[in-house]
Amino acid sequence: MQTAFELQKKITAISQKNYGAYKVLQGSYQFDNFTLFIDHVQSDPFAPPSRMRVRVSQKWAGFPSRFYLARPAKVATEDFLTRCFGSVARGYSRKKGMGKSGLIIIDRCGQEILERTAMVINDQFVEARFSVGLPARGRTILAREAEEILLNYIPGIVKQSMFYKIIDQKKLHRQAELVEDQTVLRNILHDLNLVAFVADGSLLPRESGISDLPLQGSGVVRFKAPPEYSVTLKLPHHGEITGMGVPRGITLIVGGGYHGKSTLLRAIERGVYNHVPEDGREYVITLPNAVKIRAEDGRSVAGVDISGFINNLPFGRDTSNFSTSNASGSTSQAANIIEALELGVPLLLLDEDTSATNFMIRDARMQQLVVKEKEPITPFIDMARDLLDNFNTSTILVVGGSGDYFEVADRVILMENYRPRDVTARARQISCASPSGRVREVQGQLRNVRQRIPLPDSFRLESRDKVKARGIDDIQLGRQNIDLQYVEQLVDPGQTAALALIIKYAAQNYINGRATLASIVQAVMQDLEKEGLDIVSAFKGQHPGDYALPRKYEIAAAINRLRNLKVKQT
Ligand code: ADP
Ligand code: MG
Repeated sequence: MQTAFELQKKITAISQKNYGAYKVLQGSYQFDNFTLFIDHVQSDPFAPPSRMRVRVSQKWAGFPSRFYLARPAKVATEDFLTRCFGSVARGYSRKKGMGKSGLIIIDRCGQEILERTAMVINDQFVEARFSVGLPARGRTILAREAEEILLNYIPGIVKQSMFYKIIDQKKLHRQAELVEDQTVLRNILHDLNLVAFVADGSLLPRESGISDLPLQGSGVVRFKAPPEYSVTLKLPHHGEITGMGVPRGITLIVGGGYHGKSTLLRAIERGVYNHVPEDGREYVITLPNAVKIRAEDGRSVAGVDISGFINNLPFGRDTSNFSTSNASGSTSQAANIIEALELGVPLLLLDEDTSATNFMIRDARMQQLVVKEKEPITPFIDMARDLLDNFNTSTILVVGGSGDYFEVADRVILMENYRPRDVTARARQISCASPSGRVREVQGQLRNVRQRIPLPDSFRLESRDKVKARGIDDIQLGRQNIDLQYVEQLVDPGQTAALALIIKYAAQNYINGRATLASIVQAVMQDLEKEGLDIVSAFKGQHPGDYALPRKYEIAAAINRLRNLKVKQT
């Protein structure tokens, strides 16, 4: 371990030298009350900035154990400190030369509170993992600027963001308590026979299609539960909380266009994650393994038994072991459901906006015109009950366009001017008074789902093969690309970055030609929860990179979308 003074001397010594000389700075340096680790130095000012860590001993940082002993509090605190560090760093981050020179950045957090590699708190220390653009003009080192960043700015940022006595303790308390409440709420849903909860006063709409911030303004209508579904629960910190409890079963959300149906469903989709204070969806909580299902034409499918939904394809093509590199709207949606069932899914979320019409509905007239023998698809309307009875899988679906669903729904909620109203009784009356005349198609076809075993060959990587993510939707795994555009509950680029490495980790540790996809994903998830996300990184004991934890469903979804995936069914 060297001293800060030695770091300063090293910087002076490389003044005016070629950029490559920065490499000598790699190492660890003891400052007054923290250690700076310069783990990796970028190769030029335009390359990804240099990766560093700062570690403050708990002796100095002084966080009470309440903020890191249990997992929910730990994740809440790490998220909080990442945001603190980030906002202070923004004030110090300024362009000092070319390319990324002068940048000081830590992973960006969105509205969700996710476990991330950017910050670690435990009984020993608090550690921030961040990046610095080491400054240069052309390829010439700017030593004075580098010294300013490393010896003034970074200590300044640390001082203002990593010590318990200087951070906003009230705010941290609030965030930890909120995450604990959210976690408790999500865990008790099942026992209450509920699949989702939306608190009164929640603010569901977002600022815009590209912003996840809450919509502001006088026109915003806060959520209020219909009396029929109003439940009051007790949370450890918040105390009593009232809102709409969506019971297990088949729940229909209906209503005119633009009345807030999709907005409600979207909030429920995101309710698998915890949200920051002031998000508006803090108490919109959904079963953790709920899965949004949508049509995804063009996706590849490997060896999925979709025969429960789709049978009798032209020319007798087999659908019990269905593979395609270009699925249609309906086959992709069927595959998405079966793949979710493979993992065990307690709740499916569907929106007419993103569903294939012929997958959702086939009305009486069409049943007469095109006889069942000529129609491969059994529509979802005829399967929803089987899913509930045989798999204990509930459904919440948004359907504004077809009253046929009244007959299978356990309840019907009408959205009107962004306010939910229970219209179950009225929908039943209408069903009786004017029957749809459709006949239920093939019942009881879907009893169990065949587990699939991914074959190791599909994951073969050469040592020079790149494994990385680009943005939130795209993973490169050697020569294969994985398109995650339609995996809608993937919310953070850090999750995608993690997924790329998680697939590699799974391939190295668990994909052996015998283990099923479900058991592989389960095993990986257990490792991640026990050992932390750092384990998937190639940089042991260093800045691991910026990763956020995905759910097990998204891990499986990424593997399922590998274009060369080969499987065998059990
Ligand atoms: P639908 O699915 O019923 O057609 P959307 O959920 O897409 O309707 O909502 C339509 C518009 O109304 C969106 O721009 C959305 O942001 C806005 N919106 C949704 N809920 C609310 C609300 N509670 N208050 C104000 N605006 C809302
Ligand atoms: Mg809609």
